Amino acid sequence: MFDKFKEECGIFGVYGHPEASNLTYLGLYALQHRGQEGAGIVSSDGSKLYVEKDMGLVADIFTEERLGRLPGYMAIGHNRYSTAGESELKNVQPLVANFALGSMAIAHNGNLVNAGMIKDELEAYGSIFHSTNDSEVIIHLIAQSREATFKDRIIDALSKLQGSYSLLVITEKNLIAVRDPNGFRPLCLGSLNGAYVVASESCAFDLIEAEFIREIEPGEMVIISQNGIESFRPFPLSKIAHCVFEFIYFARPDSTIFGENVDFIRKSLGRQLCSETYVDADIIIPVPDSGVPHALGFSESSKIPFDFGLIRNHYVGRTFIEPRQAIRHFGVKIKLNPVRKVVGGKRVIVIDDSIVRGTTSKKIVKMIREAGAREVHMRVGSPPTIGPCFYGIDTPTRKELIASTHTIDEIRKYLTADSLGYISIEGMLKVIPNSQNRFCTACFNLDYPVSFPWEMAMQLELFEGKK
Ligand code: AMP
Repeated sequence: MFDKFKEECGIFGVYGHPEASNLTYLGLYALQHRGQEGAGIVSSDGSKLYVEKDMGLVADIFTEERLGRLPGYMAIGHNRYSTAGESELKNVQPLVANFALGSMAIAHNGNLVNAGMIKDELEAYGSIFHSTNDSEVIIHLIAQSREATFKDRIIDALSKLQGSYSLLVITEKNLIAVRDPNGFRPLCLGSLNGAYVVASESCAFDLIEAEFIREIEPGEMVIISQNGIESFRPFPLSKIAHCVFEFIYFARPDSTIFGENVDFIRKSLGRQLCSETYVDADIIIPVPDSGVPHALGFSESSKIPFDFGLIRNHYVGRTFIEPRQAIRHFGVKIKLNPVRKVVGGKRVIVIDDSIVRGTTSKKIVKMIREAGAREVHMRVGSPPTIGPCFYGIDTPTRKELIASTHTIDEIRKYLTADSLGYISIEGMLKVIPNSQNRFCTACFNLDYPVSFPWEMAMQLELFEGKK
């Protein structure tokens, strides 16, 4: 069995720079929010691949000594996201393999919906898998392809796959970046003193002072080699389906993805949320960090003052990564603490980007009330999450998603909030420029742009019955 829905991740690549692995280290540092379970870098000096990877955070893994073992002018790196399930070194990317045409390594962000079936087929014909990571399927398909060139082998392999992938492949001599035809996950191209850089999010370019050139287009394959940069469109055109949840929660506010600045979108969502769910109150407080821009937008529109009424301990990982319910409850307390002086005696609007299981919000409402708030109104910067994601955002099974089994008023009661309001799907799309027909909103309306095997959905208890 493959790990399920663990493929959020951050990827970074450099071609043509003497400090390739150091730059990749910095790039991964800037993308740490996309995955904290493990990280790896593979570099090439033109004749050989060098690999260093481990469990943990980028800063802890890559000592000077380890970076010193990554020579060369090109490199790719990967941050792996962590959830419950198998978290082992063998699953940390980039995955490296030798095959008929030489060596290759891949760094994948996304989730392949037919990976399980392809893996079963490959195993039936004798392939041996080393990880429980669905990205390994890509390596096997490339290695087994009958096409003559590496480029055609990658195209052949990816043509068999469905789902989401922003992918970096490195060989001894080339760096290849590909984005799936739906463009689910972001992928950007930049330049730095004549070198090329590729990253999940543009915030990685800012750190290394690289220039943002453009996004890699959905369905585009870019090959960077001694011939310079070449672009190909090998896949049939598909419906564009950028993940709207990247805007809501996952990407960093200082990044530009899908053509827009993330912070700007979040503030616009906050303003729209205000117009849809205004309530009179004394103070607006965000659930930090992810709720901050939404709350600023809400405060700007409502003219209700914004303040930090919850303080976050920044040395704790994202609460979502805690594997068990018992620990998750505790986890919220470890992470957030109310400021009595800010919320005491007040009518408080608390704003978060999303409610998934409801565990976090319930705890937060209780905390704020215990800190002396007179009223606690919960507002959410995304529509009710009712469907699991098949394309790389870590969401639990459908029955665990509180909004799929409860009405808004039932959720309000569960949270013990005085009122509860979510932004509408229409409102969300209204404030994102040119949003028509270019976003995946499946987690909010079950409109899945790429179909997935129902057996898989049933087996993983994603749905209790057909929709
Ligand atoms: P929950 O307690 O299950 O309702 O989780 C909601 C909290 O998790 C919110 O504070 C969100 O910011 C955060 N969150 C939402 N989606 C994710 C995700 N895919 N990974 C990590 N955290 C998330």
